[in-house]
Amino acid sequence: MNYIDIHTHTYYHGPEVTLVLNLFPDEPEKLELPALFSVGLHPWHVNELTWEKQVEHVRTSLENKKVIAAGEAGLDKTVDNSYEIQQLAFHAQLAAAESTKKPMIIHCVRSYSELLAFRKKSDLSLPWIFHWFNADAQIATELLRKNCYLSFGHMLFNEQSKAFRVFRTVNLERVFFETDDAGYSIQQVYEKAAAIRNTKTADLKTQILDNFGRCFQL
Ligand SMILES: [Zn+2]
Repeated sequence: MNYIDIHTHTYYHGPEVTLVLNLFPDEPEKLELPALFSVGLHPWHVNELTWEKQVEHVRTSLENKKVIAAGEAGLDKTVDNSYEIQQLAFHAQLAAAESTKKPMIIHCVRSYSELLAFRKKSDLSLPWIFHWFNADAQIATELLRKNCYLSFGHMLFNEQSKAFRVFRTVNLERVFFETDDAGYSIQQVYEKAAAIRNTKTADLKTQILDNFGRCFQL
């Protein structure tokens, strides 16, 4: 049974790993690799002059069957890029994801209230996966209520993190795991997660495969 790495920037051959390799819009040649993909314009790369063209590339990529999600896309208040343009780029990608019926992989930094408020009022049905989730339990609960998933990775190794505290009690039907090139293998992340939840890695693998099938309608 496979491990699922829901978000990584590096193509690798791991034993029994299903990869969702994240691509930026300007690297379509990588779609030839034997993997599944998410393609998105990252909020760090949003530029007033180029964002529309890049979102157009995202839209085209989403028509490829191997591209199962749009993203990572989202909002980040810790970078200098215009927050307004970030929002325009995000909403344009969301429209593309909705029209191709693909979930989104979300990059969210200091923007949980904005994204949650939007999610609540927009009545979207396709799931959003919050990669590198690191917010409090209240936000987690509200996101789960709105058909979102939370992805955990290296923050599980930091017992002081919000992610660690949320992961101790979160509904495992709403969880994914990721490496995000943060220095831990996906096997290490699963093992750590299993230890925190006092369960077996094999049971977690079954659960995440289940989640994967449900979230992506595979
Ligand atoms: Zn990433």
